[in-house]
Amino acid sequence: MNYLSTRGLAPQLRFSEILLGGLASDGGLYVPETYPHFSGAELAAMRGMNYRELAFTVLSRLIDDIPHDDLRRLIDKTYTADVYRYASPGENAGDITPLKTLEPGLHVLALSNGPTLAFKDMAMQLLGNLFEYVLDKTHGELNILGATSGDTGSAAEYAMRGKRGIRVFMLSPEHGMTRFQQAQMYALQDANIHNLVIRGVFDQCQDIVKAVSNDLDFKTKHHIGAVNSINWARVAAQSVYYFKAYFAATHDNDQQVSFSVPSGNFGNVCAGHIARRMGLPIDKLIVATNENDVLDEFFKTGVYRPRPETRHTSSPSMDISKASNFERFVFDLAGRDAAKVRSLWAAVESGGSFDLNADGLFDRVADFGMVSGSSSHANRIDTIRTVYEVYGTMIDPHTADGLKVGLEHREPGVPLICMETAQPAKFEDAIREALGVEPVRPAELADLEAQPQKKHVMDADVHAVKQFIVDHAG
Ligand SMILES: *Cc1c(COP(=O)(O)O)cnc(C)c1O
Repeated sequence: MNYLSTRGLAPQLRFSEILLGGLASDGGLYVPETYPHFSGAELAAMRGMNYRELAFTVLSRLIDDIPHDDLRRLIDKTYTADVYRYASPGENAGDITPLKTLEPGLHVLALSNGPTLAFKDMAMQLLGNLFEYVLDKTHGELNILGATSGDTGSAAEYAMRGKRGIRVFMLSPEHGMTRFQQAQMYALQDANIHNLVIRGVFDQCQDIVKAVSNDLDFKTKHHIGAVNSINWARVAAQSVYYFKAYFAATHDNDQQVSFSVPSGNFGNVCAGHIARRMGLPIDKLIVATNENDVLDEFFKTGVYRPRPETRHTSSPSMDISKASNFERFVFDLAGRDAAKVRSLWAAVESGGSFDLNADGLFDRVADFGMVSGSSSHANRIDTIRTVYEVYGTMIDPHTADGLKVGLEHREPGVPLICMETAQPAKFEDAIREALGVEPVRPAELADLEAQPQKKHVMDADVHAVKQFIVDHAG
């Protein structure tokens, strides 16, 4: 299996060669040259599989340059009830992604039972084990540099802690994350995890990461890498739970289901698009945004118009102004025409937008089964309250956005599965506002904020960050 760039000008590479990288050399994103396809008989055989068997069945079709025995071992070590242990009462942790039924035909898929209580653990934990494996083979070293406004940083740190050959330098803004999110990261005492708390806002953290990554000499000399959401392995690993959820919500493979996905960078819903390409009988993929509605606008009008500013909302992990994984979907929508993708993103990268109505491409969106909607603060508070009152289930603000938009597109006879992307414990303020109570939290994490914290507070200064890396990169 070769991987090619959505912009068509980068060399084709194998899975292990794109694993540690970010963008392709032409600025595009790597995608498989063709999607593997599961036949009806193969899907029938997959129906009874547990999460690990499913993950191996799906991922071994996308990864052919890691010996299958090794891949199976890495998957078996990742997807255990011990790693995804924060299941709520009534959920079976062994399911890894338990399906909760609110009422017949309406489900929530629990994706946030991993160490950081957000769905990013689903892929990131595997990534940690894959990175360690590949670096071990090549005797390589990797210094992961990132900026986080909350969930990505903690998921990366919990996935990479204690891993041989890997260090994490994670920049976070002094203000803006919830106390729970801060404590989750800063409580880590592992020698290979470095929290750099920047006196500034998230955008300044991100600018510093970009500035360091653009210094190619520094980047090469210090083995700087990233784990951002365009990483192909993350998207691939996320496609597995679409299969798991489908089999849990249906009786046979003649049925279709729809998924509602709280979306920001389009990584999660892109994994659903890929699961469908691989033959999973999906009716609709429902793209749910918050007030940052660049994706909703596209799926309603055919115009993709990244915004100069991101709005800060009460579902902060979806606060994005442009959706980095969206290019993978548009590549398929455009019939895999890399020249077309190049010209579209040339417009975007010079600060503009594109409109897919003119050449009829937008009409094809219907064939890809994508619909969308957006949610406001009032909507999400209202949804958290209603779901609690009607079903006795507490959901977080991101999941609330997904449920609100999902219900707008619900069709009779088609099971609707709403992706739960975080646990309410991470977002206390929103829960307090909606319900007047503190969110439930796993007992093990009861005194998280009281644990000693390891962090380095510094000014928003590129040189200071570089110096810190030089001093700690070994
Ligand atoms: C990252 C995140 C999202 C958005 O996922 P994308 O893959 O970027 O679309 C939604 N909800 C939560 C809680 C997240 O952490």
